[in-house]
Amino acid sequence: METERFVIGVDIGGTKTAAALVRARRPRPERPASADVETPEIVERFTAATDTSSPEATVRGIVDCVARLRQGPVAAQAVGVGVASMVDFAAGRVIESVNLPLADVALRDLLYRRFSLPTVIDNDANVAALGEWAYGAGVGARDMIMLTLGTGVGGGIVSGGRPLRGFSGAAGELGHLIIDMDGVKCPANCPSWGCLEAYAAGSAMGAAARAAAEQEPFSGLGRASAAGRSVDGRLLTRLAREGDAAAIRVVERTGEYLGVGLVSLSNIFDPELFVIGGGAAAAGDLLLEPARRVFATRALRPARDRVRIVSAALGPEAGVVGAAALALLELFPPGRSA
Ligand SMILES: [Zn+2]
Repeated sequence: METERFVIGVDIGGTKTAAALVRARRPRPERPASADVETPEIVERFTAATDTSSPEATVRGIVDCVARLRQGPVAAQAVGVGVASMVDFAAGRVIESVNLPLADVALRDLLYRRFSLPTVIDNDANVAALGEWAYGAGVGARDMIMLTLGTGVGGGIVSGGRPLRGFSGAAGELGHLIIDMDGVKCPANCPSWGCLEAYAAGSAMGAAARAAAEQEPFSGLGRASAAGRSVDGRLLTRLAREGDAAAIRVVERTGEYLGVGLVSLSNIFDPELFVIGGGAAAAGDLLLEPARRVFATRALRPARDRVRIVSAALGPEAGVVGAAALALLELFPPGRSA
């Protein structure tokens, strides 16, 4: 049995920074899916709006979150950080970000110098994947891919029981999988066209919903738009769940784009499981069933007959729990005690 440890998990997003002191054991990725998984316990938490007015302000906010949790009665043993940025994992550096003013910041060393605790940082989508793998929908899988459908599309790959990070630590940018060479311009900080993100992110779903509202003024989407409501991914999901045919068609089309992306990922990485998370995945099976249908007809055998496509299982704590899992997996190698 692994030793119980206290680690600080930090989840740095474009709008909020969440940190939690988590009590957990190092996850055993090799355990069967049927095994009972001890859910990490959140002992204490601190959340603040991310100050994006300057790089210094953002870093100050991050340091402040960790400092608050260091004041509690329980001493943390390590810090794990997930950040919504491109990360050079080996160097512990933030390379660049879209929604944060962080570029070329040695965040790991900066936090280590400040708190003298072993620290590890990674991209937030990788961290989400590790969290699901350790404690959520991915328990028992040796080969798993997670896609996070949020403002953009992020991803994380677990291959042969190890997170796959690539040469520069930036692997898993699955939102930039090209699904249409001549497709729409990628909305992110990316020079390409036709990336999955341009079709399956929450913002893309919102844009498709607005187009449908215009084309079908008598649909639920059309009426909501005419009434002056903001037609975005969230409203789209709600109307689809209420049965609005136009909204359902938009969600289904999004699910098909997602399915096409999963086909390519399956043919390359051969995972046993895809986990789909993020706010835009709230449509659940309305989104996943069309993805499964596309997958069942277009992926290669044997994957197409046995790969599972499921929703993420960790709830709103996924970011901090994933960051804690990252710290436990990376900083406490198996077999080393205390
Ligand atoms: Zn792109």
